[in-house]
Amino acid sequence: MNGKKCSMLSPAVSAHTKQLFRLDTNRPVVGSGPVLFGLNAEALAASMVEIGEPVWRGRQLAEAMYRQWVADLDGVTTLPKALRSRLVAGGCAIRRPRIVQTFVSNDGTERYLVEGQVLESQTVESVWMPDGDGGEAGDGSGADVPKQSNGENEKEWQRATICVSSQVGCAVNCQFCLTAKLGLQRNLTVGEIAGQVVAILDRHAVEIGKDRVNLVFMGMGEPLLNYDSWMAAVRLLVKEVGISPQRMTVSTSGIVPGIERLAAEPPEVRPKLAISLNAPNDEIRSEIMPINRKWPIEAVLDAVRKMRLRPRERITFEYVLLGGVTDRPEHAQQVARLLRRSGLPAKVNLIAWNPGPGIAYQMPQPEAVEGFKRALVAEGVPVYVRRPRGRDIFAACGQLKRTIEAAT
Ligand code: SF4
Repeated sequence: MNGKKCSMLSPAVSAHTKQLFRLDTNRPVVGSGPVLFGLNAEALAASMVEIGEPVWRGRQLAEAMYRQWVADLDGVTTLPKALRSRLVAGGCAIRRPRIVQTFVSNDGTERYLVEGQVLESQTVESVWMPDGDGGEAGDGSGADVPKQSNGENEKEWQRATICVSSQVGCAVNCQFCLTAKLGLQRNLTVGEIAGQVVAILDRHAVEIGKDRVNLVFMGMGEPLLNYDSWMAAVRLLVKEVGISPQRMTVSTSGIVPGIERLAAEPPEVRPKLAISLNAPNDEIRSEIMPINRKWPIEAVLDAVRKMRLRPRERITFEYVLLGGVTDRPEHAQQVARLLRRSGLPAKVNLIAWNPGPGIAYQMPQPEAVEGFKRALVAEGVPVYVRRPRGRDIFAACGQLKRTIEAAT
């Protein structure tokens, strides 16, 4: 680690800091020191006590970073100036991830490259979808219901969805996904995961508790393969930022141990679950999602059945329609049978595959999408078709790959 050491931090903070730098297989951010953004209120309080400050100084720091979205220590005016100077002199910094590049789609979607906390060169991708993409519909949380107009200070959007990344690249290697082409480069830290959300909330002046904003952990990476950091970020977003876990959905390719850990989380912090199913049977699924050979469909469903669902909560099954591969009428019948047999309260989100360079699949014909939907409806399965958002800026599902050239 090249950065200055902040000798004033508690062991908990130092351990966290070490974790940040242990993940750094390349070069740390030039001039960086230990990072405060990503620590929870308890760790911040412990560090304040350690340097002889009252415990509530930690709460003040947490309030400033996570509620008021103050991005540097100088701006934390609830702390005495002398303390701020001491922290800065000791090498501490908030280092909240910043949006460094924005790509704006003609449908209003925005894709961001967000600065990492660890590496100078590696950015993280996130997407802002004003008015969502339909993926929130029908899961029992009411997340898709526009807020009532109060006639004053109206924003341009009624509700919005933020798509959050959990890793740089991904190891899961789904054959239809552009992110898979990167391979896994590294796990994101707690601060990098929560920081994407806070940077975007700040950019759009979101009012927590008033505006309808949903989070989907469906960006780059497999969240359940970075479970500890991802779940710590979720706790931070729930407890410190104030976002309800019922407004959050985590999507997994079917990592059984991760689903089992999620099932054991208390309902007050557990996000809703989406399973990226994408195929009607193990044979096709293993072909397009090699992870299925390790955890086939039945093993995934067994793990999902361990979840204690909230009243009216449904498990979302995402289904990417690949032209000629997964979009046939008989596939729809098989999916309906599979879900019926599972006994789970389920809904299906259909996603017409988004093309990406170097991936040989075909987009489904619009009639195939419609036919698939009709077949599921006829079998009594609740089904929604995701609106493609931000295809022109490579922001749509499966397209995140730090495609900077899309801006030019
Ligand atoms: S679809 Fe998700 S899990 Fe699969 S390779 Fe892409 S990012 Fe990873």
